[in-house]
Amino acid sequence: MSKQMPTQPVQKTCRFCRSIIDRKATRCPHCASDLRTWPARHPVITALLIIFVGLPFFGGIISALNSGSSPDSETPDKKQTTTPYQQTRTEPKVSSEEKAYRDGVMKISNDVSESLGELGGFVSENPLPFLWTDEEVIKLAMHTVIIEGGYDEAQKLNPPEKFKDVHASFIMALDKFAQSMRIFREGVDNLDVEKLEQATALMNEGSAYMNEATAKMAAVS
Ligand SMILES: [Zn+2]
Repeated sequence: MSKQMPTQPVQKTCRFCRSIIDRKATRCPHCASDLRTWPARHPVITALLIIFVGLPFFGGIISALNSGSSPDSETPDKKQTTTPYQQTRTEPKVSSEEKAYRDGVMKISNDVSESLGELGGFVSENPLPFLWTDEEVIKLAMHTVIIEGGYDEAQKLNPPEKFKDVHASFIMALDKFAQSMRIFREGVDNLDVEKLEQATALMNEGSAYMNEATAKMAAVS
């Protein structure tokens, strides 16, 4: 029965010299051309480019934070003429504990998102790591350290009760990003495709947690 499987063509045409060759050949026996696809010929570059393709989206959590934190923000004119009476009136809406937590999440999200953007932008414009200058490598390393630091910063936050669930997802996301950056540095240092692929997988896992945190934040804000 297995002998009747639809047969794939066993031969192909070399795209350089037009010779008929074995379908599985990665190098043409006639003209010696490399017949692998571009990603297969440049695995490190491909892996590097892929890691930042699906950049984690922080815009959602930032706008969820903005929409919930300051109900008086839509009347900026009044803010300038705020009297002590108005201040005491708006304060009870957001406890200081909640404000501290919101500000903390906002700062970490901004920092991590900015560094991810810088890294992703640089790598997509300069996908040949062996051409990076020492200064560029130092700058990239600095951004990876900022991203890693987001996890440490997040652990210092004290989420009020209603944000406990948001916080759990936020911490998971930042943990994955931090791990991804450590492995990314190793991958770049050693031009190691497997490490870069691991870094990409961790980045994607982090993004999924970040989406979860964003949805939870929108729900409680
Ligand atoms: Zn050929």
